[in-house]
Amino acid sequence: MKIPFLSLAPAEAASVLAAAGASPRHAARLRRRLLAGGDPARDPHPGFALPRRARERLEERFVWTSLRSERRLPAPDGSEKHLLRLADGEAIEAVRLPGAFTASACLSTQVGCAMACRFCASGLDGVRRNLTAHEILEQVAVLRRFGPVRRLVFMGAGEPGRNLGAIAAALPVLRDEGDLGPRYVLVSTVGPPATIDRMAAIGLKFTLALSLHSLDRDLRGELIPTQRGVEPLDLLAAADRYRAATGRSYQVEYVLLGGVNDSRADARELARAMRGRRGHLSLIAWNPVPGLPFARPSQAAVRAFLEVLHEEGASVSLRRTVGEAATAACGQLRAAASASA
Ligand code: SF4
Repeated sequence: MKIPFLSLAPAEAASVLAAAGASPRHAARLRRRLLAGGDPARDPHPGFALPRRARERLEERFVWTSLRSERRLPAPDGSEKHLLRLADGEAIEAVRLPGAFTASACLSTQVGCAMACRFCASGLDGVRRNLTAHEILEQVAVLRRFGPVRRLVFMGAGEPGRNLGAIAAALPVLRDEGDLGPRYVLVSTVGPPATIDRMAAIGLKFTLALSLHSLDRDLRGELIPTQRGVEPLDLLAAADRYRAATGRSYQVEYVLLGGVNDSRADARELARAMRGRRGHLSLIAWNPVPGLPFARPSQAAVRAFLEVLHEEGASVSLRRTVGEAATAACGQLRAAASASA
């Protein structure tokens, strides 16, 4: 199997180029061009201008990117979801979201997910494997072929806390060669607190997103069975430690499930828990997944939930659901592709 070019360290890439008969100085330009979304198959950009024989030699052993966009589902809101095929035949999803200065991408960190959140399609079949650092880089490279990506959120399939090594390896490359520093990166986790402490220890200063969803330990344990017994307030305390250690703010993610965690009382408890903390609440109304036993919250319930949080002075926003028309809920496109394979 051919070696993905972005799996090479910068120094390795330089010596590979030299061995193929090209200038080793060209390696940095090539890597930058790939990470910027250049496609050597179509792109006449000078970043790819290699002597013909050197290029042929390189292409005998290497692939410029090992994953490809197999299906692209654009939504009326301008977002587009991609089914990305990996070199070993596995599939993941990634989403590119538009925006003049905030164009972003939602990336996967694993094939599937072991966390088994009961409201998520990505966890339905468990985890198959972790993505490598170069597969994380290549998601950015491939999505940038379709438009700009200036921010990243690791909220696609997979629990980033279970693949921190690959994230820690990819982020410095994106910072140094991909014009995308950690302050424009958000990494989510369902916990436990030790995972958040490990994220702080990496020292990369990305924004943390804690997937909380309930302050009731038992209810949260039902929604995320792999996190049974984890005390939600301990997670918030770990997020506070993250902020103290990195100086970076954090986000608390709360998926509103109709009739489950969307009452005014839930909102009041959430506001109380956030009082005095420097975290921002990010609400999202659940996106229906066929076969899963939840309902989207009513608009009235969402409005009332927000109203209580505003009254209580919480820092809160309601995330719009992007790409809903394009089967946007996490994992649905991959699930549909496996079902039809
Ligand atoms: S919501 Fe996130 S952590 Fe939970 S199963 Fe889905 S991908 Fe995994």
